[in-house]
Amino acid sequence: MKELGETMELAKFGPAGNPDAFYEAGFKASVDIPGWLSRLRLAAYEYQCGRGVNVGEKTAGAIGKAAAEQNIALSIHAPYYINLATEDESLAANTENHILKSLQAARWMGADRVIFHMGSPGKSSRQAAMDRAKHRLSGVLDKIERLGLSDIILAPETMGKVNQLGSLEEVVQLCKLAPNLLPAVDFGHLHAVTRGKYTDRQEFEAVFDYVQAELGEAAACSLHIHFSRIEYTKAGEKRHWTFADEYGPPHEPFIAVIADRKLQPRIICESAGTQARDALIMQELYLRLLNKDSVAG
Ligand SMILES: [Zn+2]
Repeated sequence: MKELGETMELAKFGPAGNPDAFYEAGFKASVDIPGWLSRLRLAAYEYQCGRGVNVGEKTAGAIGKAAAEQNIALSIHAPYYINLATEDESLAANTENHILKSLQAARWMGADRVIFHMGSPGKSSRQAAMDRAKHRLSGVLDKIERLGLSDIILAPETMGKVNQLGSLEEVVQLCKLAPNLLPAVDFGHLHAVTRGKYTDRQEFEAVFDYVQAELGEAAACSLHIHFSRIEYTKAGEKRHWTFADEYGPPHEPFIAVIADRKLQPRIICESAGTQARDALIMQELYLRLLNKDSVAG
């Protein structure tokens, strides 16, 4: 517990990609997003490379400079085509390229985290797929080390579809491979894949307890988190909605846990179009709960 008067590191909130309101305000280029976010008092941004790392050194550098000036923490979402569990050698080579290119772009941008999807088990058992994923990632980690990129955190994400690798347990297992790995816990995905769990405090607390028991307190305290309302079917994730829509998971019990435990995660909102507004809704509740706490002593 922090003493009064000591400045506590705060959780950081921000959007995944550029929200509709950014374009509606007349902006077009991502180099303008750090300033726009800073005027909203948001402090994080996840740059989207889902369809490939197409950003060059110059643009990445300009976004990074703007973000540094505005104190916006940057992460990059790596391409969706990554599949560490593939048995196909050419897909495995592509996977390695996507990871290395994402890290290179992160370096240019000054982003300290790269988020990625582990892939899918295909026709093999989940255990066999996990073994392949660990083996492949170990090889990639060696290259990352040699390239001098191992100071950037790689964060495997918990996935929303039943037929994808990336249960919380699988993500945590993968993160045991190296100190530069940290879970990206997507609570919308966990809600979808469990068909409706993560609606009360205990369920959110259990995630932080589990990460702490398996990976230590620092990891549990500084998790990368994706949060959005999600519609699901029995196969899992169907689509992302907004905080104005009637889907789960609810953010209130989640934010209460973050504030009560004085955790310092980076929380990226992936709402459809309203990701900055919804990040602000979470941040406002968070600050209100923290203030109430300090007033109460
Ligand atoms: Zn993702």
